[in-house]
Amino acid sequence: MKKVQAEYRQKLKFNSGDNQVKKIPMLDLAPEVRLLWDKINVAIQEVIRSGQFILGPNVQAFEQEAADYLGVKHAVGVNSGTDALVISLHAAGIGPGDEVITTPFTFFATAESISRVGAIPVFIDIDPRTFNLDPGLIENAVTTRTKAVLPVHLYGHAADMKAILAEAEKYRLLVIEDVAQAFGAEFEGKKLGAAGRAGCFSFFPSKILGAFGDGGLITTNDEHIAETARLLRAHGSAKRYYHEEIGYNSRLDEIQAAVLRVKLPHIEKLNEKRRLAAGRYNELFNEIPGITTPYEAPFTKHVFHQYTVRVPGGMRDKVQQYLAGQEVETRVYYPVPLHKLPVYRDSGPVLKNVERAAAEVLSLPIWPDMGYDLQQHIVNLIKSAINQG
Ligand SMILES: *Cc1c(COP(=O)(O)O)cnc(C)c1O
Repeated sequence: MKKVQAEYRQKLKFNSGDNQVKKIPMLDLAPEVRLLWDKINVAIQEVIRSGQFILGPNVQAFEQEAADYLGVKHAVGVNSGTDALVISLHAAGIGPGDEVITTPFTFFATAESISRVGAIPVFIDIDPRTFNLDPGLIENAVTTRTKAVLPVHLYGHAADMKAILAEAEKYRLLVIEDVAQAFGAEFEGKKLGAAGRAGCFSFFPSKILGAFGDGGLITTNDEHIAETARLLRAHGSAKRYYHEEIGYNSRLDEIQAAVLRVKLPHIEKLNEKRRLAAGRYNELFNEIPGITTPYEAPFTKHVFHQYTVRVPGGMRDKVQQYLAGQEVETRVYYPVPLHKLPVYRDSGPVLKNVERAAAEVLSLPIWPDMGYDLQQHIVNLIKSAINQG
């Protein structure tokens, strides 16, 4: 076991420089960067040489390349995944007094964006297997003020889009997808982000497709949404100094777009490698009772932005502490469901699947080039933690 870690420290030289990295991290971007190092450097230098840093040829080309890859008509680069959500909601005409049905088992930005445009997030419970909002509960949450449903494809696993779209049609609701964790993931053979009115992606460095800073993307087949989003990201103006709307300053910048263009052609392969790593974990966990490995519904192609297990019976925190003591980083996504946060406290009933998930989930290190030895090492440590009680 010592040997595995020593070897890993050796490998981390590339990103640590001083070789001081002791932990097995949640995510190691070094192999990806090493693979693309030369191309990324050239791409960045070309932007610097061109002197065009905002809304130039790289953003335009990246938007087209991402739209092609995702199978959607329009893609609009923005400053972050959060802004992609805010601007999509705004462009879809969702505002003060409107209600948006969503999941509380997500990153804060999902609900924050709804609140930011003046609307009200209405939280419903999740499907305990997929961790995504349970479409069967939409009906009960609909009121005369409901305007939209905002599913999140958590951890890289699709929400049940067919059922969600059917409910949305029944109650004339818009569907806006939070695809921040699921770039390249699929629902029934199609990439996510194209099924509803808009898809919202994040290029935060730790996401599936990560920039070297903040970045985001809005995808849509709706010409009006695309046009409005383009206006809104640039202070509500299509023509300089002629502002038609109160907008935002939220552009994807050229350097980030240039980096993303280098990475995009590799995403399919990198996601395939994540899936292989997840498969190896699943096999290693076969022998360990008490751990529930991630479910993959027949309708989805999971991209394992996170490899998240359940550790039931109040053992989760102990297992996490044990791993931390052995220099293995793990995370709990998410310990506090959003409806339990003080800012949303007064909103709603007990959501028992969410609360149980928050107490049981544990996300383990995963990245495309994570090797078998490291995974075996981590699973062995979890076994020891459980045996110790
Ligand atoms: C990361 C994330 C966001 C926000 O993206 P940023 O680019 O960090 O603003 C929104 N929703 C979910 C589910 C996320 O994981």
